[in-house]
Amino acid sequence: MYSAAVVGAGPAGSTAARFLSEMGHKVLLIDRKEVVGVPKQCAEGLFAACLPEFETAVGDFITGKVPYLEVVFPNRASYRVRGEVLMLDRPRFDQHLLRLAEGAGAEVALERKVEEIDPESGVLRLRGGETIRAEAIVGADGPASRVAKSIGARNRLLPAAQVEMTWPEDDAIYAIIDRDLPSEPYSCWIFPKNERGTANVGCFGTVPTLEAFISKYRIEGEIVEKNGGAIPLGVAERLQRGRAVLIGDAGGLTNPFTGGGLYPAARSARIAAEAIDRFLRGETRTIEYEPRMRRDFVASDLHLKARNALAALSNDELCRLGTAMDGLVFPGLKLTASPRLVFRGLRHPGIAKPKYAPLLKLLVRYCLAGKVW
Ligand SMILES: Cc1cc2nc3c(=O)[nH]c(=O)nc-3n(C[C@H](O)[C@H](O)[C@H](O)COP(=O)(O)OP(=O)(O)OC[C@H]3O[C@@H](n4cnc5c(N)ncnc54)[C@H](O)[C@@H]3O)c2cc1C
Repeated sequence: MYSAAVVGAGPAGSTAARFLSEMGHKVLLIDRKEVVGVPKQCAEGLFAACLPEFETAVGDFITGKVPYLEVVFPNRASYRVRGEVLMLDRPRFDQHLLRLAEGAGAEVALERKVEEIDPESGVLRLRGGETIRAEAIVGADGPASRVAKSIGARNRLLPAAQVEMTWPEDDAIYAIIDRDLPSEPYSCWIFPKNERGTANVGCFGTVPTLEAFISKYRIEGEIVEKNGGAIPLGVAERLQRGRAVLIGDAGGLTNPFTGGGLYPAARSARIAAEAIDRFLRGETRTIEYEPRMRRDFVASDLHLKARNALAALSNDELCRLGTAMDGLVFPGLKLTASPRLVFRGLRHPGIAKPKYAPLLKLLVRYCLAGKVW
């Protein structure tokens, strides 16, 4: 009998397992893979301001740093925001977090697939028929989570296609918003990994969309890897049942505005570990996770509303917005920087319409938080 069983040893699961072990609990961390973190399903970008949530020193999982985020519009107009982005080596990062969990005392079981859980009794059924029992279960098994399914939650998933290709030294990561591509993707991205001489080039959408993006923007380079995955679109309708809670992608906590899921993985791992700790110590009768998690900005529906507002713009509107913003460089995610953004944005005909409100609100919230993910 374990105090907690954590299903999935990605960034969310390994972090939750470490925190719970450090709190003195008997933890089992299970993953179906032999080696965690591979194949890579990530553009590998993390704003430096988000790393402290993982409570880890900087290590060899950081392969480079980029000082700017540049947003590019269909007419190639663009603006920049200063903010240090760490480029990770995701396989190394995931393996580092797993080692930290193990070092804190978690028992690690790899190549073990969880088929189903019973949230009321705390029983996990593994492929092959083995069962395990725990007082609390953490579902950290990614976007297509079995634990989520077992508790009656299902994530709405979007495909994301990506390649890693050769790319020169660069000083920005790029978010490109263009509707005039097959399947009207929400956005595409280029995340350079300077030390490797490559970049992760991807989009919300499938391979034909990515190919059209690469061809339209004349992106040249040798493809060294093809990857991709699924990104949840919005927080799951339920985040816990009985003894089971969902964290990270399993709970749909990835930011649907940016696609960034690493910071939410660590944030939800911390909130879940604290709630489970109180439950295991007998301070609460149930695991008080979901209400606390939903109050956190990570789980706010503002991210999805802002995404929908941006996704509703036509290329004409985007071009006009781009022209209004072209050449701006914001010194950072600070409120002192945002009046210029609002002023320039207001010159865009029609931006005063209520439909833009979620975008402006989200911007202010990121400035208040001092980070974006
Ligand atoms: C193309 C793409 C690009 C992205 N780029 C970024 C980015 O640049 N920055 C960013 O912050 N986020 C990015 N994300 C999102 C980010 O990768 C995820 O949010 C993050 O991996 C979530 O971590 P997690 O631990 O919740 O889930 P995962 O990383 O998916 O880990 C889940 C783990 O659970 C295991 N597992 C699954 N099912 C079972 C089972 N039944 N039994 C046992 N084990 C199981 C898996 O093997 C895996 O190890 C991107 C996503 C995609 C698809």
